[in-house]
Amino acid sequence: MSLLTLQHQVRRLSRLGFALLLPCVTILSALPARAWSALSAWGISRDGVLELRTPPATRLQAFFEDGNGAVGPRIWVDLPGAPQRSRTLVGNGAIREVRIGRPTDNATRLVIEFQPGTRLDPRQIKLVGTDVDRWSMDFGPSVRGLRAIGEGSLERPQGPSWRALPPPSLQLPRGPIPKLGDLPSVPQGRYTVVLDPGHGGPDPGAIGINNLRETDVVLDVSLQVAQILQAKGVRVLLTRSSEVDVDLPPRVALANNNRADVFVSIHANALRMDRPDVNGVETFYFQGGRSLSLAQSLQNQMLAASPGTPDRGARSGRFFVIRRTVMPAALVEMGFVTGQLDAPRLADPSFRRRLAVAIAMGILNYLVAYP
Ligand code: ZN
Repeated sequence: MSLLTLQHQVRRLSRLGFALLLPCVTILSALPARAWSALSAWGISRDGVLELRTPPATRLQAFFEDGNGAVGPRIWVDLPGAPQRSRTLVGNGAIREVRIGRPTDNATRLVIEFQPGTRLDPRQIKLVGTDVDRWSMDFGPSVRGLRAIGEGSLERPQGPSWRALPPPSLQLPRGPIPKLGDLPSVPQGRYTVVLDPGHGGPDPGAIGINNLRETDVVLDVSLQVAQILQAKGVRVLLTRSSEVDVDLPPRVALANNNRADVFVSIHANALRMDRPDVNGVETFYFQGGRSLSLAQSLQNQMLAASPGTPDRGARSGRFFVIRRTVMPAALVEMGFVTGQLDAPRLADPSFRRRLAVAIAMGILNYLVAYP
């Protein structure tokens, strides 16, 4: 158990009357340069409790700055490692917005900005370590009745198996890749599927072993899934078909506006470069029901295509693109670009073909089961 007291950020007023923050001293030297963000997942519950998941034994610092007139109070937590992208989430209730930023090259700052006039008592607000990798902070009685927000899964990846080193004999899967005729058939032109290759353009997503870039892997696989589904008579829309950056809301809008039957976001996972032992396939859904069935169908096919990689399961997650889409939606993580088993596979064009067929198969199986 650990417990951090909020530190009052010293505030000075500039001549313009704006709050001027002193720089934070939060650089942690224990991690290698350009480490991944230690912010693995976060969420704020309806009762105004912030929860964080980090790698075990992460060092955090939390700060408080009081509001001033039109500016509400804010709380921020600094963590080691850089986020993949800076972003702002619109809040609700007493929370105006939540920002994830990069104050230095090797740090993540999670900022919770409250509405002007929100009364917080910094003496009562503490960041409490509730487990080796979990943290919690109760904002107090004036921050209740929220709609829950967050990113990523606060559940710890289960079981010791996914950390086990893969057997060396299972490097590249063998055997024939299924042909178009081996895939299930669906009525021509009945279904619309939106495929969402993660990241793109200036945002390469995760970067792994031998500079394997997530954006390259997911774009190649996504384009192949699209081509396979189209050949099976499915209408396919891609949120991007080249190296361009597309923000998250337009990805969701494309699916919602076109009344897609299925939305699948395609990603590859990453951890710090010093964890090549972590490999595996996982699929996220936001709510149960059909999205869970879709996620399980995709997970089964990806596992079959990638023998020996750990099954990290079909799991609930709060990613924006699966939370805001109104049709059954799933986000696949096809393996770790930082994993010693997964990375060479993901770098291999024939394995990416195998994965594309697997994902297409997972979607078609779902469409057959839920016509
Ligand atoms: Zn990604």
